[in-house]
Amino acid sequence: ILSKATDYLQHVYTVIEQRDPHQAEFLEAVHDFFQTMTPVFERHPEYIDANILERLTEPERVIQFRVPWLDDAGHAQVNRGFRVQFNSAIGPYKGGLRLHPSVNLSIVKFLGFEQIFKNALTGLPIGGGKGGSDFDPKGKSDNEIMRFCQSFMTELSKYIGLDTDVPAGDIGVGGREIGFLYGQYKRLRGADRGVLTGKGLSYGGSLARTEATGYGLAYYTDEMLKANNLSFNGQRVAISGAGNVAIYAIQKVTELGGKVITCSDSNGYVIDENGIDFAVVKQIKEVERGRIKDYADRVPSATYHAGSVWDATVAYDIALPCATQNEIDGDQAKTVIANGAKAVAEGANMPSSPEAIAAYQAADVLYGPAKAANAGGVAVSALEMSQNSMRLSWTFDEVDARLKQIMQTIFAQSVAAADEYDVSGDYLSGANIAGFTKVADAMLAQGLV
Ligand code: GLU
Repeated sequence: ILSKATDYLQHVYTVIEQRDPHQAEFLEAVHDFFQTMTPVFERHPEYIDANILERLTEPERVIQFRVPWLDDAGHAQVNRGFRVQFNSAIGPYKGGLRLHPSVNLSIVKFLGFEQIFKNALTGLPIGGGKGGSDFDPKGKSDNEIMRFCQSFMTELSKYIGLDTDVPAGDIGVGGREIGFLYGQYKRLRGADRGVLTGKGLSYGGSLARTEATGYGLAYYTDEMLKANNLSFNGQRVAISGAGNVAIYAIQKVTELGGKVITCSDSNGYVIDENGIDFAVVKQIKEVERGRIKDYADRVPSATYHAGSVWDATVAYDIALPCATQNEIDGDQAKTVIANGAKAVAEGANMPSSPEAIAAYQAADVLYGPAKAANAGGVAVSALEMSQNSMRLSWTFDEVDARLKQIMQTIFAQSVAAADEYDVSGDYLSGANIAGFTKVADAMLAQGLV
């Protein structure tokens, strides 16, 4: 016999599945989330009475648009642009823009859905949103990137604003792209610095924003390890990815005493028994925009291997997936555990498949879910918004100290929520519950919205 709570969760999931049967990533994110919600709905019938979950899983607004741009050969190209304004219960929509050929409505909705709770966990007043395009930045010239960004912003500018919706970067969108996007926004709507975050330091950006997601991941993981009488000190750490999150995770984990032995891109991975040299990865990826294979050509202690780092048989104690969604499937999770991982914390969004999460839980591996572990990026974005509004800028150390404090609070909140709902030690449930109750209570207070 189903309880009223499980009955409700199943009913709403069926409704969503029938509405969007082809949105695999969105359904996965919702399903993972619902699996942790039973204790909350058992204790709070008012959420069921208000049908909070059906409201929460339907975006407030979805914007889809054509992005025409001229390539260097003078040919007209067309991509599809998206902005999902998912939930504004606690503040303006906030979340990145992703440029990657895989981007579709399902992916933007999964990212936007996760962003709602992640943003709530930061304790800062920001709602959830996400956007992007199926444009592939790989192999494009600076001028092509600029023309694409200008065209994308020409349409997007109609829907964003510093008090309504504030985009930032994600995969494929870094400082260069935010600069082009902001330049175009300014021509169309005027100089509102608060309309985008991740800006360059000379035009309203925050110190430590570039480092924030990677540093935040290291701070969160450090808290999780300490709570279990462990630490980074002397530990071998496997990191995937070589983008903005991975680069600064490598730097901070190394500073905290860990030895990072891997990083990767979509073609392959490197193993460096001397510890990955963060400055070399940064030079290759941020300056030369090269591939991770170049690392092995440059560092004699490193070897390059084609394929996924999560298929590699190599010993490590901690795994930090920082590449992309579903990069670790169930079998790969078993490899990660067999390699010796005692802890997994997610720098990417939803990098572990449901089967992978089940494998960690079955093996009692400490698991720090993305919406908590990678919240440092958006947290410092919110600090950038604050600094823009105050027309001042904090020092690097001041922002970094606030970031660390926020990550510690996120971990503590997740622990407290898990304890309160009798799922102690389950940091996934704790993060979901702490983020959800904040948003749900704000929605209830505002009436039927
Ligand atoms: N894209 C990042 C994330 O997944 C950061 C978003 C932001 O700074 O608004 O949280």
